[in-house]
Amino acid sequence: MVDLEDSSSKIMDKETAHRRIFELRKTIEYHNARYYQQDAPEISDAEYDRLMKELQNLEALYPDDELASSPTQRVGAAPLSKFAPFAHPQPMLSLANAFGADEIKDFDSRVRRLAKSERVDYVAEPKLDGLAVNLIYENGRFRRGATRGDGAVGEDVTQNLKTIASLPLKMKTGAFRPIPEFIEVRGEVYMEKEPFEKLNRRRVEEGDAPFANPRNAAAGSLRQLDSKITARRPLNIFLYGVGSAGDAAFASHWEILETLAAWGFPVNPLIRPMPDINACIEYYEQTGSIRSSLPYDIDGVVLKVNRLEIQNLLGSVSRSPRWALACKFPAQQAATVIQDIIVQVGRTGTLTPVAVMEPVNVGGVLVSRATLHNEDEILKKDIRIGDAVLIQRAGDVIPEVVGVILSKRTGREKEFRMPRACPECGSEVVRQADEAAHRCVNLSCPAQLKEHIRHFASRGAMDIEGLGEKLSAQLFDAKMIADPADLYFLTKEKLLGLDRQAEKSAENLLEAVERSKTPALDKFIFALGIRHVGERTAKLLAGHFGSLEALMSAGCEELTAIREIGPEIAQSILEFFAEPKNRIVLEKFQRAGLSPRTPAPTAQASLQGKSFVFTGSMESMGRNKAKAAVESLGGIVHSSVTGKTSYVVAGSDPGSKLEKARKQSIPVIGEEEFLTMIGRQIHRQA
Ligand SMILES: [Zn+2]
Repeated sequence: MVDLEDSSSKIMDKETAHRRIFELRKTIEYHNARYYQQDAPEISDAEYDRLMKELQNLEALYPDDELASSPTQRVGAAPLSKFAPFAHPQPMLSLANAFGADEIKDFDSRVRRLAKSERVDYVAEPKLDGLAVNLIYENGRFRRGATRGDGAVGEDVTQNLKTIASLPLKMKTGAFRPIPEFIEVRGEVYMEKEPFEKLNRRRVEEGDAPFANPRNAAAGSLRQLDSKITARRPLNIFLYGVGSAGDAAFASHWEILETLAAWGFPVNPLIRPMPDINACIEYYEQTGSIRSSLPYDIDGVVLKVNRLEIQNLLGSVSRSPRWALACKFPAQQAATVIQDIIVQVGRTGTLTPVAVMEPVNVGGVLVSRATLHNEDEILKKDIRIGDAVLIQRAGDVIPEVVGVILSKRTGREKEFRMPRACPECGSEVVRQADEAAHRCVNLSCPAQLKEHIRHFASRGAMDIEGLGEKLSAQLFDAKMIADPADLYFLTKEKLLGLDRQAEKSAENLLEAVERSKTPALDKFIFALGIRHVGERTAKLLAGHFGSLEALMSAGCEELTAIREIGPEIAQSILEFFAEPKNRIVLEKFQRAGLSPRTPAPTAQASLQGKSFVFTGSMESMGRNKAKAAVESLGGIVHSSVTGKTSYVVAGSDPGSKLEKARKQSIPVIGEEEFLTMIGRQIHRQA
């Protein structure tokens, strides 16, 4: 059913509607760029959602030809149960590999012999470590897209591809070549290193297993059945070739790349034409030397014969073209020995096996530990304690065990078993059917609680200065705190009982705790440590609900209606607030006087610049709620009357502030008037 509101509820003629649709698309594209590419949104999520909703409604009523390239197509669609198979119109071949200059020269000799040519020119490009995709454009519009699969048949990931901001839904016209009716464009979906590391940090914080490397992260994100999840992942794409090009006949590969760029496709700026193979070798070596400074992972360079005439002459053999070559870089790998496999317990109870290794230098960094992710991973690679292994650094920081050097096995190696009891608390360890992770079932597991408290106090959450990992563990072990709310009941006397807890630092800690009593709502939601709710999701929730009470009473439907929130996150939020232990902690926060500040929605800042002073008590709400309501509308609340006060709100039994206001001729309003002023907000929270 179409929900009619905004402009779509007005009766408008077709022309006005299409003008409004055009305007909305442009505005939303602009805000998408601010949000996804520049990470600097200008409008609140609520406002964005309103624009999107209006556009969706108008598009439903007044469909046009541009619908397929509308921003409404980028937000992700209903989850799929599986991907449909996709037969590539022209098969996607795989490239033959070469290592080092000699093999590159051999390739060139073969090419020149077959082409009966003295000299052949090439195009050289960095070989990105991502996931190859095939995109179909019809009359300049993106229609379908698929993974490479086995080269003949891939998976239809159209919905997911649409969420990649740098992928054009519509080709640009005005290039030196007309847009063909049908064209297959090939490229690589990848994730840059920095967003990858940020994503992994977030995953660990939210209790998910980190991705092993940017390639896995890109592949996992693109092959998500729920495209709303893909929409949240920082994916990128470079296009580097065409399959069947219909009526667009090209003379050279370089011409293809230039045309793709002119049509608006992102093309890697490091791709260069090469006059001969010596230039290629130089490019290979030079690119290898700048490899670590690039924002994305590459594992080599690709050389392609430039002239398509020669490409066709050479053809392909056993599904690899004879005119292209993947020149791999030597891997940043090293061999070492696994001395032990230990198990760490995270905030959400996940047990993560970690390999403790003989320290070894990998590409300039000393590595002694590597995560093994989970039991399946260990079984799959058959990693045993005492094994000699090959490790590599992926994404430049995270060390990964590539595999066991079986020839060095002596038979004395020990197989690893996930403990049946939590190494921290001895409780039962379970594995849910749909998860790779083992978890400690004990909600009061000390390892989990300590991690939980550390997270609560951390920067980005409540930012309680001085309360690091060590001190929170110390307080916990001394039984002074059992959950984050206990922090607000600490006293100086109690703290001084701690070892080496000097008076000054006790005071500092208490002050920092006190200062954290009015956190921004989104920081507080993040600090609660709800599974899958990271900083970003917390912001979305705070912006949408405006208060913790409203969030707590939200149902599944209301949660999933929010952009970027899928059923998994919604479920996790519902479970969190349904858990009696969490309810108790939340009540304790309230008793301690903790009151999160409601965010000021930019679209509804009707009290912007206005300051309020309250005196007396109101019937309909307490002081804190009134304060939150004012702040949520952009206003400020002060405790004393000054010449700059905009309104004094007088409830029953007002104090001396009322008199002071009258003396200074500051407007005094009653409870009724105040409620009218903030009416919308109260209605929203009710
Ligand atoms: Zn435990």
